[in-house]
Amino acid sequence: MLGLMQSQQLLISTLIDFADRHHGEAEVVSRRVEGDIHRSNYKQVAARSRQVANGLDRWNLGFGDRVATLAWNGYRHLELYFGISGSGRVVHTLNPRLHPDQIAWIVNHAEDQVLCFDLSFLPIVQAVHSRCRTVKRYIALCDENRLPADSGIPGLISYEAWIGAESSRYEWPDFEENCASSLCYTSGTTGNPKGVLYSHRSTVLHAMAGAFPDSLNLSARDSILPVVPMFHVNAWGIPYGAAMTGAKLVFPGPAMDGKSIYELLESEKVNFAAGVPTVWQMLLSHMQNANLRFSTLKRTVIGGSACPPAMMVAFNDVYGVEVLHAWGMTEMSPLGTVCSLKNKHLMQNAEDQRTVRLTQGRSIYGVDMKIVDDNGQELPWDGLAFGDLLVKGPWVCSEYFREEGSARLVDGWFNTGDVATIDADGYMHITDRSKDVIKSGGEWISSIDVENIAMAHPAVAMAACIGIKHPKWDERPIIAVMKKQGADVTREALLAFYDGKSAKWQIPDDVVFVDAIPLGGTGKMQKSKLREMLQDYRLPNT
Ligand code: AMP
Repeated sequence: MLGLMQSQQLLISTLIDFADRHHGEAEVVSRRVEGDIHRSNYKQVAARSRQVANGLDRWNLGFGDRVATLAWNGYRHLELYFGISGSGRVVHTLNPRLHPDQIAWIVNHAEDQVLCFDLSFLPIVQAVHSRCRTVKRYIALCDENRLPADSGIPGLISYEAWIGAESSRYEWPDFEENCASSLCYTSGTTGNPKGVLYSHRSTVLHAMAGAFPDSLNLSARDSILPVVPMFHVNAWGIPYGAAMTGAKLVFPGPAMDGKSIYELLESEKVNFAAGVPTVWQMLLSHMQNANLRFSTLKRTVIGGSACPPAMMVAFNDVYGVEVLHAWGMTEMSPLGTVCSLKNKHLMQNAEDQRTVRLTQGRSIYGVDMKIVDDNGQELPWDGLAFGDLLVKGPWVCSEYFREEGSARLVDGWFNTGDVATIDADGYMHITDRSKDVIKSGGEWISSIDVENIAMAHPAVAMAACIGIKHPKWDERPIIAVMKKQGADVTREALLAFYDGKSAKWQIPDDVVFVDAIPLGGTGKMQKSKLREMLQDYRLPNT
């Protein structure tokens, strides 16, 4: 017997329709590539996304065809999110930080038909367009009068002229909610990038779970600044969650430096922001140097890589901002766990609460997880046993795009490639990426733990720990350190800093000072590059 409730497909178009009808005046503010601040709202975004849909229909683009974007966080990108997916096509967000060869490879693999790009990425498009075999149309996200005259890109048109010729009346099509809606390639460090193909259903459910109070806690009272880019895992689903709740959106455009982000946080009265630790590090340095305070920011979600304890202390204790530590991955849309406290923790003192908050958090409804040993046996949730972290749920990928049977599935569970512990309350703690964990004398050393201690030193801007081959111990950790501008610390002083903070055998054998730690396309440390940089390095006394 079936239930007698209305059957409505969970489509992305319902999100922008809802925002249009119920939160039409809620603002969408963007810092543009042009440098100015642009003000819009959900009513206008909805109308213009319908113009996008009409424009794609006029070109007879097929259902499920891919439309690529190469764009910062901004209102036009948001309109494309809704216009492309809502009309039944797939929005394919390209990561501009990848090498042009990789971008060309990805465009061809995805068979993108249209490529929309911010003018800052014109040089990338000029470098790749002759190799993009399937792209028939190029759209520059700008006004007509800013369209470069001699770009060399065939048939280049401006976004404003394109949608300006279209009606804002449009009936969103109704179709099966499991149809593909968006595509994002993982910036894998080995092999070719892999496409993760989200569906309407997975996106809407993920947005709903992401908005829960124990998750990102989104509401119509929020002013949200996602620093996390829309070109990487849909800015953690925030554009969808914001439309679903009617939250104000503030987009930073290309300006990710501490000063620009701080100005936007203040001028738009942002109370919630989301980003990876490297971005927050730039913001905090700016604030320390200029002796600034936040007047409205109340909470921030930090994920993408482990939040260093020193950063959590700075946000919480110095600036009064609550840090939500979150974990996930491209293959998970991305939210898997968020670290919000339970009722029992409210009785604890601040120090004990912080110990909990520094874990990657607990599952949000929809994601189940477990840790297993090398034989696939499930390990206990005791906060001590660590093993491969496996997940499942309606917004976890089942296989990669055009790579049949490719996903790392074990009995229906996706192997995340992370190594973790889970405690009795369900709080998960990432020990390491399985390929980064260091094996010394038969014992594992967490590179994240080693990095976190270095990051707490006042002279250290960024630190990355890697294992170096050792004749006796198999591997020993060393720490590569980028110093803060104007600050100094010696090798000996930094090694002494570990005393009492970690077991003796987990203290790195050496410190290597570097001008910069290599960062990947999504702002994460690229340890493979660092290993290449240090390939001639020899441990002292070996
Ligand atoms: P990506 O798919 O590029 O977003 O990368 C996902 C990977 O980033 C995960 O598998 C983790 O290794 C890492 N990651 C994400 N969030 C965290 C976190 N809060 N702490 C530690 N590692 C994280």
